[in-house]
Amino acid sequence: MAAHIPDEKIKAIKNASDIVDIVSESVSLRRAGRNLLGLCPFHAEKTPSFTVSPDKQIFHCFGCGAGGNAIDFLMKHGGLSFPEAVGDLAKRYGIDLPTRKMSPDEKKKLTERETILTLNGNAVSFYRECLISEARGRQAKEYLLKRGMTGKTIDEFNLGFAPDGWDQLLRHLREQKKSARMARRAGLIVARKKGDGHYDRFRNRIIFPIFNGQNQPVGFGGRVMDDALPKYLNSPETPVYTKSRSLYGLNRARQKCREMQTVYVVEGYFDLLAMHQFGIENTVATLGTSLTADHVQTLKGFVGEAGKAILVYDSDQAGIKAAQRSVAIFQKGLIEARILVLPKDHDPDSFLMAQGSDDFLKAAEQSMGMIPFMVESAIEQYGLSIDGRVRIVNDLKSAILAIGDPVARSLRVKQLAERIGVDETVILQKVRRTALTPSKAVWMPGRQDMNKAAPAPIHGETYRLERQMVAMMLQFPEMINDVERRRFTDHFTDPVLAEIGKGIIDHFAHAGGDIAGLVSRWEDPEKKAVVSRLSLIDEHWDRNGCMNLINQFAASIRRRDNTLLKSIEAAEKSGDENLLAALLREKQQQARSGMKKQGNTNQ
Ligand SMILES: [Zn+2]
Repeated sequence: MAAHIPDEKIKAIKNASDIVDIVSESVSLRRAGRNLLGLCPFHAEKTPSFTVSPDKQIFHCFGCGAGGNAIDFLMKHGGLSFPEAVGDLAKRYGIDLPTRKMSPDEKKKLTERETILTLNGNAVSFYRECLISEARGRQAKEYLLKRGMTGKTIDEFNLGFAPDGWDQLLRHLREQKKSARMARRAGLIVARKKGDGHYDRFRNRIIFPIFNGQNQPVGFGGRVMDDALPKYLNSPETPVYTKSRSLYGLNRARQKCREMQTVYVVEGYFDLLAMHQFGIENTVATLGTSLTADHVQTLKGFVGEAGKAILVYDSDQAGIKAAQRSVAIFQKGLIEARILVLPKDHDPDSFLMAQGSDDFLKAAEQSMGMIPFMVESAIEQYGLSIDGRVRIVNDLKSAILAIGDPVARSLRVKQLAERIGVDETVILQKVRRTALTPSKAVWMPGRQDMNKAAPAPIHGETYRLERQMVAMMLQFPEMINDVERRRFTDHFTDPVLAEIGKGIIDHFAHAGGDIAGLVSRWEDPEKKAVVSRLSLIDEHWDRNGCMNLINQFAASIRRRDNTLLKSIEAAEKSGDENLLAALLREKQQQARSGMKKQGNTNQ
């Protein structure tokens, strides 16, 4: 797998890098014995089962089975290719990488991403320059200042201006010998409907560059300064920009989110800028799209297991709609979400400009949990007449159903029952009926899609012993010699465990004992997961325990041999030649390769 980057470079990078640093950037970790624990960024969970081992430099999630080393984490979490992940680490730790030889396809993908990021970076500088030097750009800057943005905010967020005219950016890129085709892939320019020319996507607009968590410019938002339409225009989806994953301000919000264990989610560019300018830096903006499950996972990584998200809305109606839309996502994402509705006619931007951050934070203390908020809004809307109460329950049943935790759900039902004076059982009945309606695509509580890595098949005693053997080799490497000498791995019946067992022996003989390096022997995520899991399962090995296990394993081999021999004898007696031939083949196979099947074929 490491064909394109020399092995010793990869080793140097692995030695220099620390998985705790890398994972901590997106997952909030706490100490638990020798390991660190956090909420898994790859599946929804409430109790942390995502384990990082600083000693072994690997991670493993006991919930969904994801596992591997630092490179695997970057690949899986950042959606990077192997060379990109290695390149990323090399850059962080100041290690020079030789120019690498990649497959044409890899090369194409990597170059495409890099080219788009470079073009975007180019465009960021171009738009910034225009904000300073263009006549219209200076007007744009005036406009920003008049709206209360400071020069510092404008600089820090790299705000810019896209000049009027159809090809200003295009010409600029052309002067720098950039390819128009790639600029189009980056969403910066648009192909003309007629003929084969291009024109600038953003014209006569204030530009808000959008950065990803690694501080790379992935896209742009552009806002007009007059009444032209559309008011806002965004980059299209590109190989580096996915709307359902991107959050504006994420790159600058991360640190503070972690500190405060809270993230504010606002809707617009100016709202975000105002929040940061007023020191409420743990804020991101969704930019018009509603929050997706991916967003929620990202946010949870930043605020940690006890953290919360506060969604800020400028009106009850917007808040209600958002709550209805995203209650299931937050319930499913297992992160606490609250709704903050600002006083009438205010958005976060105008509120902060008018009243400052103290009042904002005071208001935030009054934010409500999503369901209480929905209850109160429904009461306000429908009143508490009989008819009103029926409507309230109807409105809320899906939201209640979305609560995954049965205890939390029953408490909510109880609260609602008390609040509106309806019998609990009646509400429960309604909720259950909703659950049984198949047409409604509501998320079914208690059936979290925890295990994308397929449920574990039912394994017998042999498999359990083999697994123990591998765990022992990983956690008590002193025994590897014994295992090798007695050729135990030749007797493994499970092909995955057999390959891993042999890999361990080979790795420890030739590459010393680092488990992170061992993990990268395999590209297959299943094997990575098995290794990381068995390296980290909590077992206390000592020499006696190991000897016991080895004896048990040896006995099980003998038992299986005997069964096979007995089967052969029986087949000979009964004259079943087909069976006999099959059994003999099996015995031969055992003797030769060791990958023998279990002897019980005569049942
Ligand atoms: Zn997981």
